[in-house]
Amino acid sequence: MAVRRAIEVSGIVQGVGFRPYIYRLASERGLAGWVTNTSAGVSIEVQGELEEVEDFVARLPAEAPPLARVTGVRVRELPPNGDRGFQIVLSRGGEAMQTLISPDVALCDDCRRELFDPHDRRYKYPFINCTNCGPRFTIVRGIPYDRPRTSMAVFPMCAACQAEYEDPLDRRFHAQPNACWQCGPRVELWDTSGKAVPRREPIAEAVSRLRAGKVVAVKGLGGFHLACDATNAAAVERLRERKRRVEKPFAIMAPDLAAIERFCEVDEAARAALERAERPIVLLPKKQPCAIADQVAPFNRYLGVFLPYTPLHHLLFAEGGFPALVMTSGNLSEEPIAIDNREAVARLAGLADGFLVHNRDILLRCDDSVVRVSDGRLRQMRRSRGSVPVPVFLKDELPPILAVGGELKNTVCLTRGRHAFLSQHIGDLENLESYRFFEEAVEHLERILEIEPAVVAYDLHPDYFSTKWALEQKGVQLVGVQHHHAHIASCMAENHLEGPVIGFALDGTGYGADGRIWGGEVLVADYAGFERAAHLAYVPLPGGAAAIREPWRMAVSYLAHHFGRDFLRLPLAFVRDLDPRKTEVALRMMEQQVNSPLTSSCGRLFDAVAALAGLRREVNYEAQAAIELEMAMEEAEAGDASAYPFELLPQGAGWSIGSAPLFGALVEDLKHNRPVSSISRRFHNGLVEVFLELARRLRQTRGLDRVCLSGGSFQNLYLLEQMDSRLAAEGFQVFTHSEVPAGDGGLSLGQALVAAHRPARRP
Ligand SMILES: [Zn+2]
Ligand SMILES: [Zn+2]
Repeated sequence: MAVRRAIEVSGIVQGVGFRPYIYRLASERGLAGWVTNTSAGVSIEVQGELEEVEDFVARLPAEAPPLARVTGVRVRELPPNGDRGFQIVLSRGGEAMQTLISPDVALCDDCRRELFDPHDRRYKYPFINCTNCGPRFTIVRGIPYDRPRTSMAVFPMCAACQAEYEDPLDRRFHAQPNACWQCGPRVELWDTSGKAVPRREPIAEAVSRLRAGKVVAVKGLGGFHLACDATNAAAVERLRERKRRVEKPFAIMAPDLAAIERFCEVDEAARAALERAERPIVLLPKKQPCAIADQVAPFNRYLGVFLPYTPLHHLLFAEGGFPALVMTSGNLSEEPIAIDNREAVARLAGLADGFLVHNRDILLRCDDSVVRVSDGRLRQMRRSRGSVPVPVFLKDELPPILAVGGELKNTVCLTRGRHAFLSQHIGDLENLESYRFFEEAVEHLERILEIEPAVVAYDLHPDYFSTKWALEQKGVQLVGVQHHHAHIASCMAENHLEGPVIGFALDGTGYGADGRIWGGEVLVADYAGFERAAHLAYVPLPGGAAAIREPWRMAVSYLAHHFGRDFLRLPLAFVRDLDPRKTEVALRMMEQQVNSPLTSSCGRLFDAVAALAGLRREVNYEAQAAIELEMAMEEAEAGDASAYPFELLPQGAGWSIGSAPLFGALVEDLKHNRPVSSISRRFHNGLVEVFLELARRLRQTRGLDRVCLSGGSFQNLYLLEQMDSRLAAEGFQVFTHSEVPAGDGGLSLGQALVAAHRPARRP
């Protein structure tokens, strides 16, 4: 007996080959009916024998195309009618927009095979794509997602492309960026003045320049990269000088896994991370010796490596045979990445010796994503290209909220229903270009997601650009959220938790509820509020922001705090090498409480220890000292559980975490020339022990046994893994970040959750 069912599918189901998939699934079972895109997702009606229809419904989510993400399937019974055959019905419009736009996706294996097949009509065509791969988010102007609303609108399809586009059984059915040599975008090589170099083979010409040690700007999916040969030390050095980037590591792109395995340690989980559809930059341990120039990542045991993801990347490697290319964002220092051809020529003048451009516009800039792998789990460090606009799926429905994030590594977050849309990495909001990018990103996301936020959540720091921007918004409710509360709420949201929980929020800088600079915080928190149960004891930050750039100041601060001026007589290399004049100025500032704000920052404690251990007195990029301190640990000493002691001093209803015993023991170790690897391990272990003790006490006094770990310090994998495993061993349930960054890139998600649970007010 025939039955008929109506099926509504929600999630990422458009632009990913979903309707041809449904067509095949239904046709194979002899079912009649139709499928269509709606603004809410995909609508299906099927009719046939009960067994076949049930089999169809059961398989539908399980066998969906690789890029689809099915988040809901609703089935209703309908009376059967005289329907015959199965059809794909063209999109309707209207209704509330609930459709999710797919992120940009790396070239698929089928397209890659065609790219290098001399008999294929797209042989070596740099813009080959299909429904399973290609640009999406970065070429979309509006929704629903179809060609006229993308930057492909200016390229009318040729007859052959049109036929593919219209054939439900073709891999390019409704592939919006579908194109070929006849009808699609083209590549050109431009000189430094923006004039096309009259060569027939622009890619071959770019390759010969790269081989000669030149820097070539290459237009990618989310913006321009600056490329040079990663094995050519002089070329890399030149790029560093031009980019004014002293030591911060560059990412490198290698042609395939085998190439990466020649210069990095790659395990199973790392391989899976490298091959994710977004092709993120994966931080991997460097092998020694290594063919990659030291200048790529100086003082660093890791390399940030990724695989090619556009056809143009594949063609560059096929033509050039490079073991690896530096592929760093096309920008100066911390400015946003360049996306427009003319903008690139103007902004990257003096950085690049040539420009490999094309005429498919990038509508929204989107940097590469960066991940690490620990305990077999992926850890997002910078969630950007390939992950945006995939939402973070929430446990409960939220009203429309815009959360504007922090100051550094900024992202924004928009919520709708059970979806939280984190923006791409916007970066450090400290220059005009970044402000503009911030505003563009907010505006673009609101448009393509059709969200009009009624609430805007922001950080409490009065000087953050994002905070100032939020406070200027009219007609919305405003909710200020404390920085570390937002971190813990972000971790709770990603893990679908309700409070209260114990939250360890460890990072460099966050504006405290008392106006001081927090960063070593133990909170008892739910979404609506938090209580500060413990924190690292306050010390002065001599010189304010200067102390962040110059870790020696934090070492002086801690030494003076614990030993008074007598520390100047300690027989330590660190003390001997201090500049007496600068030291005196720093000491006076602290004594007179001038330009020396108090801080409980964990990042600054890392800085102090790194400086004392002789690693680094000044840094060239954020968290450099802490990163180098983590890397100083030797694998051979992995079993060493010795730890520097802290003390817990009662304070109010909680504790202040004192570091006098730590610095006492550290100074003794330095006097006896204990190696830095061992000092680093004892310091890390000491932090783990004291926070573990705080968790025990809070379990005893509050009956809490769930612990959330968040904040930039947990991008330190030793700290993360040790804290996690020690807590778990004592019966705590530990929750960490994976798809959302632990650092400030994840802050906006937490702000949104807090705002949703708190009554709003105008400030
Ligand atoms: Zn493809
Ligand atoms: Zn064509």
